[in-house]
Amino acid sequence: MPESACIFCDIARLPSSTSLLYQDDKVVAFQDIKPAAFRHYLVIPIEHIPTVKNLQRGLEHYSLVSHMLNVGKTLLQQDSSHNEHRFGFHQPPFNSVDHLHLHCLALPYMPSWKFIKYSSLGPLGGFILAEKLLEKLKP
Ligand SMILES: [Zn+2]
Ligand SMILES: [Zn+2]
Repeated sequence: MPESACIFCDIARLPSSTSLLYQDDKVVAFQDIKPAAFRHYLVIPIEHIPTVKNLQRGLEHYSLVSHMLNVGKTLLQQDSSHNEHRFGFHQPPFNSVDHLHLHCLALPYMPSWKFIKYSSLGPLGGFILAEKLLEKLKP
């Protein structure tokens, strides 16, 4: 995909155009434009990695995903420390944007049926929890 066609690359490269919740040299975080829970943030790598299928076992991707998760946990801890938190990724073909993004959710889901979209328990298992992905990437 040409880089200019990726909206998340645009957000990562032109951070002034979006209100970012967090940024460093590896990742940025912002609010999901269609929130599905009490708090719903996305953490994305600045590097264009299409989906979880492009991640490989090893230190590089393990540390990247750990870092994304830590950023997400810190953000939710700051503003919804009493809520239950969920962190995970959509697996193709259930991902909406082909640029890796960690969903950081503070429950409850809004509206409540939205939980289906962020569940790994469905017949298709479209959503993988961050902790589970980290197990797969662990060097
Ligand atoms: Zn991208
Ligand atoms: Zn997604």
